[in-house]
Amino acid sequence: MKTENTKNIFVTKSLLPSYEEYIEAIKPLWDSSIITNMGTYHKQLEAELKDYLKTPYVSLMVNGHMALEMAIQSFNFPEGSEVITTPFTFISTTHAIVRNRLKPVFCDVKAQDGTIDESKIENLITEKTVAILPVHVYGNLCNMEEIERIASKYRLKVIYDAAHAFGVKYKGIGVGNFGDASCFSFHATKVFNTIEGGAVTFKNPELYEQLYNLKNFGIRGEELVVDIGANAKMNEFCAIMGLCNLKSIDKAISQRGERVKLYKELLKDKPGISFLKPSYEESAIEENYAYLPIVIDEFNGRTRDKVYTRLREENIYSRKYFYPLTSDQACFKNKYKDADLSVARSLSNRILSLPLYHDLEFETIERICKIICE
Ligand SMILES: *Cc1c(COP(=O)(O)O)cnc(C)c1O
Repeated sequence: MKTENTKNIFVTKSLLPSYEEYIEAIKPLWDSSIITNMGTYHKQLEAELKDYLKTPYVSLMVNGHMALEMAIQSFNFPEGSEVITTPFTFISTTHAIVRNRLKPVFCDVKAQDGTIDESKIENLITEKTVAILPVHVYGNLCNMEEIERIASKYRLKVIYDAAHAFGVKYKGIGVGNFGDASCFSFHATKVFNTIEGGAVTFKNPELYEQLYNLKNFGIRGEELVVDIGANAKMNEFCAIMGLCNLKSIDKAISQRGERVKLYKELLKDKPGISFLKPSYEESAIEENYAYLPIVIDEFNGRTRDKVYTRLREENIYSRKYFYPLTSDQACFKNKYKDADLSVARSLSNRILSLPLYHDLEFETIERICKIICE
């Protein structure tokens, strides 16, 4: 039965400063006419993000995907080397590996939190393995201690896809401090956005210079090109959007937290419905409430796909993040060694991300939960 004609509710909504604030903030660009090429605001946002993410170095990028591509490329792995990664992610993670002419080796994930199953990594290591590329999926932190223990035992690099983990801290430490590099996305749909944008964070100062070359054609002087770089730098309009949004990000994250709390109250103990659970002690983590994925097991004929369709009939757009697995996508299927991905595949068949953003109305959450529990 259709209820009244309601407005569309999407899975996310971009955080924006007020129109006046942004217009005021971009005014100086008309005085200087410098609107890109690592200008004032690019530098300022790098500095402020260093502070916010509590990491020694930040290199801003044009988007999260290029952050991943550039970070991987900066390690100069031999062509055809293997990278152990997760298929339970956005397609960008796998594309970034393959577009660097490396081979993804898919590892299964843990049902509990959707992150790479660290106990299955060692079995996948061969003499060709050069790196591990895990994803802090939904902002749930991977088992970083164990991943980094394995990496140092086999001398592998660790590059985290931290696209979902903006602002997440583990024992007070910014998540961007782990591994050899972490890649963030500042896409409009993410917790923190610069319209389009991204960043790599890391501890090694040499990496800053390398990433600088990679994101700006390797240009080091009017007549000097030292590396075969691409163009992946962030422009000033985007950097200013980031500076504006950074002012309200803490508030936005706590508003998200309140909404997650309500969802959890309303859906708790409902048969067939469960939540993912971070594998670290909750007290050790500062969350960012980036997504609200629920796991739907069949109950009385209710399945993930039926809930998805039912919400859609009410103009509520949930998303099957992440279905299908990237390894099952047309462009990758049957191309790589078949590991046992049964946990990832099962999770992927049952997961549904519900609408979540800073000013999502509590009433809407009640309505969504009612439809799900019908
Ligand atoms: C969004 C996202 C990316 C890519 O970031 P863009 O800024 O959209 O290029 C990479 N990995 C994951 C897991 C993402 O969710």
